[in-house]
Amino acid sequence: MNHFVDVILPLPLPTRFTYQVRKEEIGDLKKGMRVAVPFGKTKVYTGITANIHQEAPKIYKAKFIEQILDDKPIVTQTQLKFWKWLSSYYMCAEGDILKAALPGAFLLESETVVELNTKTDIDEEGLTDEEYLVYEALQNQSVIKIKEISNLLGKKNVLKILQKLVAKNVAVVSQELYKQYKPKLIRYIKLAELYHKEEELQQLLETLNKAPKQSSVVLTLFSLLAKSKKPISVKQLIKESEASAAIIKTLVDKGVLDEYYLQKDRTDTQQQVEKFQVNLNENQQQAYAEINENFQTNKVTLLHGITSSGKTEIYIQLIKDVISQGKQVLYLLPEIALTTQLISRLQQYFGEDVLVFHSKYSLNERVEVYQHVLEQTKGKIVIGARSSIFLPFQDLGLIIVDESHETTFKQYDPAPRYHARDASVVLSNITKANLLLGSATPSLESYFNAQHHKYGLVSLNRRYGNVLPPQVELVDVKEKYKKKLMKGRFSDTLLEEMKITLSEGKQVILFQNRRGFSPILECNTCGHSPQCPNCDVSLTYHKHNNSLRCHYCGYHIAMQLQCIACKSTEVTTKGFGTEQIETELKSLFPNHKIGRMDLDTTRGKHGYEKIITAFEQQEIDILIGTQMLTKGLDFRNVDLVGVMSADSLLNFPDFRAHERSFHMLVQVAGRAGRTKQRGKVLIQTYNPNHQILQQVTTNSYLEMYKEQLQERQNYKYPPFYRLIKLTFKAKDFNAVNEASSWFAKGLAQGLKENVLGPEFPPVARIRNEYYKNIIIKIPPEHSISKTKEFIEKVRKTYDSVGSFKKVRLILNVDPY
Ligand code: ADP
Ligand code: ZN
Ligand code: ZN
Repeated sequence: MNHFVDVILPLPLPTRFTYQVRKEEIGDLKKGMRVAVPFGKTKVYTGITANIHQEAPKIYKAKFIEQILDDKPIVTQTQLKFWKWLSSYYMCAEGDILKAALPGAFLLESETVVELNTKTDIDEEGLTDEEYLVYEALQNQSVIKIKEISNLLGKKNVLKILQKLVAKNVAVVSQELYKQYKPKLIRYIKLAELYHKEEELQQLLETLNKAPKQSSVVLTLFSLLAKSKKPISVKQLIKESEASAAIIKTLVDKGVLDEYYLQKDRTDTQQQVEKFQVNLNENQQQAYAEINENFQTNKVTLLHGITSSGKTEIYIQLIKDVISQGKQVLYLLPEIALTTQLISRLQQYFGEDVLVFHSKYSLNERVEVYQHVLEQTKGKIVIGARSSIFLPFQDLGLIIVDESHETTFKQYDPAPRYHARDASVVLSNITKANLLLGSATPSLESYFNAQHHKYGLVSLNRRYGNVLPPQVELVDVKEKYKKKLMKGRFSDTLLEEMKITLSEGKQVILFQNRRGFSPILECNTCGHSPQCPNCDVSLTYHKHNNSLRCHYCGYHIAMQLQCIACKSTEVTTKGFGTEQIETELKSLFPNHKIGRMDLDTTRGKHGYEKIITAFEQQEIDILIGTQMLTKGLDFRNVDLVGVMSADSLLNFPDFRAHERSFHMLVQVAGRAGRTKQRGKVLIQTYNPNHQILQQVTTNSYLEMYKEQLQERQNYKYPPFYRLIKLTFKAKDFNAVNEASSWFAKGLAQGLKENVLGPEFPPVARIRNEYYKNIIIKIPPEHSISKTKEFIEKVRKTYDSVGSFKKVRLILNVDPY
C-alpha cells in the first residue's frame, strides 16, 4: 500500500498538493511537520503536511517528498483547522495563510539567502563536516543562496542541514533582524536627602558661600523645584544655572546633590503598583465579576469602558487568573498601540512571562517567540499585533482584543485579508479560550452583536479615581473668522486655554488628522465647500488641471475662484497639515518645546517611541500629531487636547466616516486629564451642529450607535448587509474594463441587483496599474457561504478565459 500526504505549499495555490511518502519514512511523518518537496521543474519548497492517507491523486502522478524536516510537528492541529476556516471565509489560498503564519526563517526554499550569524560565538567543535563546510563558505561570502550550498555539498537537498545551522546559531536567514528597543534614560538631579532639613540646608548654604558657582547651582535648583513639580533634569539645571557639568559633578561627589535616572514617568509613586497585586476599585470589581460570569458560558464579551476607566487593570487581573491555571494568553493590540508604555506595564506584573510579537521591534525574534509558544517553554502571555493570532498556542485560555474598534486589525494587503478581531472569535471557538473585546468606543458591529445578545456586554462608565471625563467644547471657527478672532489656524479660545495650561506646567496635545495638504475648496466667509450633485461628498481640488472633481462618479467642474453660495472671493483650499501647524506654533509659543508626531517624523525604527518618551518626560510641552495620538496612550500631565479641525474627518468619503470620527475624537479627547484634574478638550469646527460632534461633546455613544445603525440599515451596509469586494488590476486599461465587466455580468446572473459596479476607485491608477472594483452586498436573508460558492464558480470560468490572464483578481471579504 502506498502512502500519501497532502502538503500546503507557501504559494497562492487553490489546493493542497499530494505527494508520495517512502515506506521507511511513513513512521516518522506526522501532520503539521515541515517537508521539503519538489515543485515545478527545479524548485524545492518547504511545505506543511496537512493530511496523511492512502489515496493517490487522480489527475496527476504524485512525486515523492524529498525530506522530512522536523522531528515533531511545528504546526498544531488547531492551527490547521483555523487556517482552513480562514482560507474558506476570506476566500484565499491556504498557502497565503501559511506564509503569514510562519516566520520566514521556517520556510526555507531554494532561493532563500542565508548569512553568517555574527551575533553569537560559534561552537566549531559541535559542527559536522558538512556543516563546517557551509560555515567556512559563509565566512568567505557575505550571503549565499541555498541553491549554492546545494552545489557546494553536492547534495540536492540541504534544507535540513541549513535548519541545523540556524539552530546552532551559525547561520541566519537574511531578513530584517529585529533589534531591541532601548528607551532613552534621562539623568535627573535632586537635593540629597540630608539637606531636606531646614537646619542642614542653612549650614550648607553658608559653607557654599565660599564657592559662589556651587551656591548658585543649589539656589537655582531650589527655585526650579518651587516653580514646578516636574523632575529636574541635569540638562535643565545646567542650562538654568549656567554652570558647567563639572560643578554639578563636584556637588554630586560631595553628596550635596543626588543623581538618578528615569526611563519614563515613574515619579508619581502613588500610582506605582505593587508587583503581582491588582487592587481593583468597586466599579472594576463589578466589571470583572460580570466578565467572569459571561466566561462561564464561554460567551464572547465586549467590555465597553470609557477612556481611562482602568480597562488595562482588569485585563491584568484576568490574565493573572488564566496563567495561574497554566494556560496561555493572547493580548492583541493594534500595531501602533504596542508601545513600551504598555509592555513595561505588563512586565511590571508578569516579568519574563510576557512575550512580545511585533513586526517593528521585538524583544525576541519571531522564531524564538514561535518556538516558545509551541513548546510552552517561556512566556505564557503573548502581546502582539494582528499576526499573533497565527502563533501555535497549545493551551489558550484567554484572548483579549484591546482597542477592538481599531481598523488596523484588518489586513488589506497581501492575502490573507483577514480581520484579527473577527478571526479571534473563531480562534476562541476552536481553542475553547475565552474572548474579551475591549474598547472605549466599540465598533458598530461589535456593539450590534452585544445588543443582540450574541456577545455579553459589560460597561465601565467611570474613570479610575473618579476623575471626571474631559470637558468637551466646540469652537465655531466660522464665527471666529467672521469676528477676526483667528490667528492662523488657532481660535482665540484655543490659544487662551493653551496659555493657561502651559502656565500651570501642564502639557497640550493638538490633533490634526492630515499630513500635507488636503485639497478641498472652502469659503472663508460661509464655510461652504462645493459638493458633487450626484454624491454626498465634497469635490476635491485637482491642481494639475485646475478642476474640482468627485472621486465617486467622476463629476467635475472648473476650479471656482468665487464661492458658489455667497459669492465671496475668500476661498481657500481647506486642509492644513501638521507641518503648517507646527510652523504657526513656533511663532505663537516661541518659549515652549514643540513636538510633531506623524508618519513623517516617526519613520525611523524607533521614531514613534522616541517622541512618546520625550513627551512623557516632559521634554515637549506641546505635541501636535495625527491619529497616531489616539492609540491608547497614557500620559499623566496632559490637561488640554485641541482638535484643529473636525471637519475633514467628517467629510471623509466612506460609509464609516461618521462612526470613525466619533471613535477618533473620543479617543483623542481621552488623552486629556487622565489623573487627578479634569481635562479639557476643544474641537474647532465649521459645523458645531453636526450630530456626531454633539454626540462627542456629550459622550453619547449610544445615541451615535443608534443613529449610525439606522443609516447602515437605510443604505444597506454592515452589520445588516455583508460586503465582498473584488478588485481587478492590470497595466492594460482595456483589459481591466473587459475583465471586470465580464465578471460583473456573470455575478449578476445569480446575485442580481446586489452586484455594484464595476467602478473605478478614487485612485484608479497606482504604480501604472489600473484598478476597478465590484462590490457585492449580501442581504441578511442570503447565505454567505452560498454566495461565496457562486463567486468561486464564476471565478473558475473566468480563470479559463485566456485574455483575462493578465488581470489580477483580488478578493476581499469584509473589506472595511
Ligand atoms: P483604560 O485602559 O481604560 O484607558 P487604564 O487602564 O490605562 O485605562 O487606566 C487609567 C489610569 O488609571 C492608569 O494610569 C492606571 O494605572 C490607573 N489605574 C486604573 N485602575 C487602577 C487600579 N485598580 N489601581 C491603580 N491604578 C489604576
Ligand atoms: Zn461662501
Ligand atoms: Zn459624485
